[in-house]
Amino acid sequence: MTSTDQSPSSNFIRNIIIDDLQTNKYNRQIMTRFPPEPNGYLHIGHAKSICLNFGLAAEFGGVCNLRFDDTNPGKEDIEYVESIQEDVRWLGFDWENRLYYASDYFEKLYDYAVQLIQEGKAYVCSLSADEIRQYRGTLTEPGIESPYRNRSVEDNLDLFTRMRSGEFPDGAHVVRAKIDMASSNVVMRDPAIYRIRHATHHRTGDKWCIYPMYDFTHCLSDSIEGITHSVCTLEFENNRALYDWVLDALDVARHPQQIEFARLNLTYAVLSKRKMIELVEKGVVNGWNDPRMPSISGIRRRGYPPEAIRNFCERIGVAKRDSTVDMALLEHCVRENLNESTPRVMAVLKPLRVVIDNYPEDQVEWLDAPYHPDNPRMGSRNLPFSKVLYIEADDFMEDPPKKFYRLAPGREVRLRYAFYIKCERVVKDNQTGEIQELHCTYDPETRGGGAPDGRKVKATLHWVSADHAIGAEVRLYDHLFTRPDPDSAKDGTDFKAFINPDSLKKLTDCRLEPGLANAAPGSRYQFERLGYFCVDTVDSCESALIFNRTVTLKDEWAKIRNK
Ligand code: ATP
Ligand code: MG
Repeated sequence: MTSTDQSPSSNFIRNIIIDDLQTNKYNRQIMTRFPPEPNGYLHIGHAKSICLNFGLAAEFGGVCNLRFDDTNPGKEDIEYVESIQEDVRWLGFDWENRLYYASDYFEKLYDYAVQLIQEGKAYVCSLSADEIRQYRGTLTEPGIESPYRNRSVEDNLDLFTRMRSGEFPDGAHVVRAKIDMASSNVVMRDPAIYRIRHATHHRTGDKWCIYPMYDFTHCLSDSIEGITHSVCTLEFENNRALYDWVLDALDVARHPQQIEFARLNLTYAVLSKRKMIELVEKGVVNGWNDPRMPSISGIRRRGYPPEAIRNFCERIGVAKRDSTVDMALLEHCVRENLNESTPRVMAVLKPLRVVIDNYPEDQVEWLDAPYHPDNPRMGSRNLPFSKVLYIEADDFMEDPPKKFYRLAPGREVRLRYAFYIKCERVVKDNQTGEIQELHCTYDPETRGGGAPDGRKVKATLHWVSADHAIGAEVRLYDHLFTRPDPDSAKDGTDFKAFINPDSLKKLTDCRLEPGLANAAPGSRYQFERLGYFCVDTVDSCESALIFNRTVTLKDEWAKIRNK
């Protein structure tokens, strides 16, 4: 299902918080958290969760923590820890001094597990992983109790101590919560809370060889920090019973409320770290920050402004039912922002040389051109006009069809901020027949506006002065996938089969107006008539300027909405 509804869905999470504040349920300020696992870069789906958690805290005078959920040493890395912080900050959110790591709580979590064992609420199970799976039962059949379920407290404590001290190999034992093997909720069938893992952790090094499981760690980390509302995605709905069981079993002072919402799915994208890692590792894209990736670092490099992403997250709202948002809506939000915030400049992507026959050989005129038609505060610059210019090759046709109003032999058009020009002659390569240049005349009376005799033209073209223009490479991006739902082919075809081979086009011979020579990496512009572009932050340098196309001018979303 593709969601095209633009109005935010009723925000049930806000309503819960409003109620809790009214009844003074927590008797202190509300506290949320964003809890990424540092096993990959963040994507636009995470942005939804970040905006929601930080946004709720800000709206209700509370705070939001950043907490790394780092209990899986094999897959985690300091590179991810750093990129995640950079991305959250770039999105515009501040965790102040509240940066936490689940690994900071390992000692406390160990004590909590000991407490459960002492109270007969957890046991060491020595079944293999396969056996545990078999004993678990199915959705329709109850599970079978582990033969180790009734070990004595002493034996359990002894084994747990020895697990910690490194006596056993990976998988030899796990600690399981003693709940109910017949529960209709499979999550509650004696879930593992600790496992043995001989692996070096990026923060605790080799101090531990046992690690707490997600369901045990998460609720207790929330409780330790004093989180009031623990917001997570729908796939954790069944785990809520376990979240509450652990906190009740340990009788902790602070018991946060877990609330689930629907994750963001986006057309033409895969929002899963595992799949994104695959694209990076197989070299399908050029790293996590490839501008075609839906990663935060990718869309940042692509030129998406953080305000536009926050606005997008606001618009899609928060719902209880899964849906897929159209990529066109995200692009619409980006365009809406850039339309107002970027200066408009002229760039020719596929240059066609134009000689103005009646223009004096060495003359240069500097024409005033405002940076934004509706925003005089952006100021203006002077553009050089001279005898030899470049226009866009696509703006000329030798034998134009009916609806082509741009330049053609014998036809007159306006050059933006400059003059009317008329095409007098086409020069072609004798051998290939390829168009090499146009010879035109200009009307000096039309400078900066219309003709004194009132004659009209049907098109206004962008252009640059050949002698003054600077060269640049421009990278045009399209959807990374050829189908909107690469992840759900009916016949099970792998998502990588739908990679769009034309998702990146490099134009290496572009000409830009001279003022862009000093454009800073990351700076954004509208190239008139072409779209929004930004200077690449990775590959661009003073001697080789490279622009990324952020988004085209055409707004598909407006079309979808008005259908
Ligand atoms: P992935 O499925 O991409 O691997 P994850 O859920 O494993 O992501 P975490 O680092 O555990 O990634 O996620 C941190 C937080 O972001 C969690 O609270 C998670 O629910 C939320 N989150 C992850 N993906 C989305 C999404 N597509 N939409 C909204 N929230 C998301
Ligand atoms: Mg996760």
